[in-house]
Amino acid sequence: MPTGISKKVQAIAPSATLTINSKAKALREQGFDVLSFAVGEPDFDTPVVIRDAMKDALDQGMTRYTPVNGTLELRKAIAYRQKVDHGLEYGMDEIIVCNGAKQAIYNAFQAILDLGDEVIVDRPCWVSYPEMERMAGGTPIFADCPESQGFLPTIAELATHITPRTKAFILNTPSNPNGCVWTLEHLQELARLAVEHDFYIIADEIYENLIYDDAKHYPIASFSDEVKKRTIVINGVSKSYAMTGFRIGYACADREVIAAMSSYQSHSTAGASAPAQHAAAVALTMDQSCVEEMRKSFEARRNILVSLINGIDGLSCRTPKGAFYVMMNIKALIGKHYKGKEIASSVDFATLLLDNYQVALVPGAAFMAEGFCRLSYACGIDQIREGLTRIAAFVKELE
Ligand code: PMP
Repeated sequence: MPTGISKKVQAIAPSATLTINSKAKALREQGFDVLSFAVGEPDFDTPVVIRDAMKDALDQGMTRYTPVNGTLELRKAIAYRQKVDHGLEYGMDEIIVCNGAKQAIYNAFQAILDLGDEVIVDRPCWVSYPEMERMAGGTPIFADCPESQGFLPTIAELATHITPRTKAFILNTPSNPNGCVWTLEHLQELARLAVEHDFYIIADEIYENLIYDDAKHYPIASFSDEVKKRTIVINGVSKSYAMTGFRIGYACADREVIAAMSSYQSHSTAGASAPAQHAAAVALTMDQSCVEEMRKSFEARRNILVSLINGIDGLSCRTPKGAFYVMMNIKALIGKHYKGKEIASSVDFATLLLDNYQVALVPGAAFMAEGFCRLSYACGIDQIREGLTRIAAFVKELE
């Protein structure tokens, strides 16, 4: 028997969001009526035009390897969207298509990080950023973004995390897990610092179309040529077009970075799925009104969810301005008991709730946000009402 698993992989915490999803799924298979608020994917059907494009692609024989950095058709579609939406010009050698935005981020880290290089990341943050940074040899440096600041760093604080080893800042706006949207002022300061200290901004804009109320998304790469040169834009079709299973994401950046990402990808996964690339190209170039329709539905769901949470004694949340997540503050319930079992953490809260009321949500600990649980509102309004009724009943039983 060989001697087991590498230290490198043993050091990685498995994705907590996927773990809770599997537990919810297992309970469902046992016949329980589980309501899941744990998933990070739109519940809408993929628009028909996109599904038809996928079928056409197979009929047209798009069943073979594509160039490692993506088909010309899709790279042109990506360049078109960046130009129309943000006024940004990218050449065909400044774009790479990957197996989801997740792989694009991972490839970017692999392309730019040497052992010990530092990447600044907001805390709370998406589960995968710190792990991906470590897998690529980097060291995450956390910038605290408390709820009282709307889950944003203070502008004055931004500079304090920079050291001579700072290689990149990972920016996620709108954000998973807390739905915050960076203000223009915050972005301008980050852009200024990136140019002054010469580090990359990895701008994960996967939720850019899901913005509510008066909030606005400002693509940081559009601020100036100097900023664009240092920005690796990450995006994909998963969230905007309900295409999570197609696994298409992409990055736009300086050609040197894209060439490095492409070289790395050529030895790991090669190109993304050929028919899915065609479907993604159709999604990016078709009439975009379905994106707006989905956005409006998310906004209506958010409004209901936020008001229901804030109506429960002991729970509270801020109104997020983007993405489809709410961070529910459970701090007032820490130390309470459910049928004699103590709730000492967000994991206890989520576990007892799932086991006893069949409601799945993700403990804040997964996002380095103890005292919170994340709810995704990528689900129907009936589920939101029923789920929150169950949560209210659970909370009422706590002593
Ligand atoms: N970035 C963020 C912030 C996300 O929440 C996700 C999906 N959960 C991704 C990237 C990856 O998306 P995909 O790989 O499906 O394109």
